[in-house]
Amino acid sequence: MLPAYTDVLIVGAGPTGLTLAAGLQQAGVDHLLIDALEAGQNTSRAGVIHSHTLEMLEAIGVVEPLVARGITVSRFTVRDRDRPLLGIGFQKLPAAFRNILMVPQTTTEAVLHARLTELGGEVHRGVVALGADSDAGGASVRVRIGGVEQTIRARHVVGGDGMHSVIRAAADIPFQGEAYGESFVLADVRMDWPLGSSEVSLFFAPEGLVVVAPLPDGSYRVVATLEDAPEQPTLDDVQRLLDTRGPVAAPARVTDFIWSSRFRVHHRLADTYRKGPFLLMGDAAHVHSPAGGQGMNTGLVDAIVLGEALTRVVRDGEPSSVLDAYSDRRRPAAEAVLALASRLTRVATVRGRPARLLRNTLLRLLNHVRPFKRRLTLGLSGIDRRPLARLPEPAPVR
Ligand SMILES: Cc1cc2nc3c(=O)[nH]c(=O)nc-3n(C[C@H](O)[C@H](O)[C@H](O)COP(=O)(O)OP(=O)(O)OC[C@H]3O[C@@H](n4cnc5c(N)ncnc54)[C@H](O)[C@@H]3O)c2cc1C
Repeated sequence: MLPAYTDVLIVGAGPTGLTLAAGLQQAGVDHLLIDALEAGQNTSRAGVIHSHTLEMLEAIGVVEPLVARGITVSRFTVRDRDRPLLGIGFQKLPAAFRNILMVPQTTTEAVLHARLTELGGEVHRGVVALGADSDAGGASVRVRIGGVEQTIRARHVVGGDGMHSVIRAAADIPFQGEAYGESFVLADVRMDWPLGSSEVSLFFAPEGLVVVAPLPDGSYRVVATLEDAPEQPTLDDVQRLLDTRGPVAAPARVTDFIWSSRFRVHHRLADTYRKGPFLLMGDAAHVHSPAGGQGMNTGLVDAIVLGEALTRVVRDGEPSSVLDAYSDRRRPAAEAVLALASRLTRVATVRGRPARLLRNTLLRLLNHVRPFKRRLTLGLSGIDRRPLARLPEPAPVR
């Protein structure tokens, strides 16, 4: 049995749930973190952590272990086969971390979990949230643990339970948007790769885009769009994608296959991140194309900001309007990310030869336009969304 009451019930121990729980544990806020799965997921998924996310994660003390277990990459280059079109460097970012950190999501989750445990917190696994009802004092959440049902009362209930969030449904918060037509192939492979491990490369090709990014163990993450991707892409599928879209002069040779997946991308945003006792963060609140590697990053920043907001309300007795401020800041941040990811996806998947030639010419010109490159760098790194990660100062005590 779990406790019958908690101040904050967090549903979902993905990267956002773990981050929020670590923040609350560190601040001494009573909470309960539950997850339906008996063990954490072991698939790689998000592979990038950006500069702004790292500066936010500083608050819970996980930056050092993340950087130690990741690989830093200094350049992002857009290419058309052998021809570079646009190069972005992060060295001049007005931030402490001036690179992209490549680290598989499994490692990120392991680091967050280790930190939560070190702080004395825990994840209650095998606990499924079935539904919830709100009332004046908070919410009652029905959960199932090993075939037994129980109700947990909470003052605040956080949905960190991913795209198909039960908490978002219980709060009746619309999640508007649509699915992209194409599906994405994702694979981690070992290969002879002519561009080495200091660059994330985005290739445009008539057949669609392909992204190649180095991972810490010497492997590479390959992400590509496909009209109709195979359910379980194979080594040959990945080799074919690189042959038809990647470099020609010095082609890639895939030697070993680690993991692959296919997924359909949705583009959706919750109407609000707060409704009464219910709060949303991460994929429960926003989902979009993986172009630009922003999904998990936006969720991690949500979790840090929400941790601060809940601490101020629950521990420090500030009014619950601080939680509205969380929603008012973080929803526009996701809007900006959705717009960036959708622009990148549209540009990358332009159809028709004349349109592609025009796009390539334009990108080569923009490669010399400093303000454009600076804006793109600030957008990709998340640094331009710093103001949307700051809550208003507490009102002065009279
Ligand atoms: C194949 C794939 C590839 C991806 N690639 C990228 C990428 O390259 N870059 C990027 O930035 N992002 C990528 N993403 C997205 C990234 O993985 C998510 O943005 C991130 O995991 C969101 O974290 P989260 O904590 O919000 O939710 P999740 O990671 O989805 O975690 C939700 C948790 O809630 C639990 N849960 C769900 N329902 C319940 C319930 N009813 N009761 C209890 N627990 C529940 C689940 O078990 C899960 O552990 C990818 C996702 C997938 C699936």
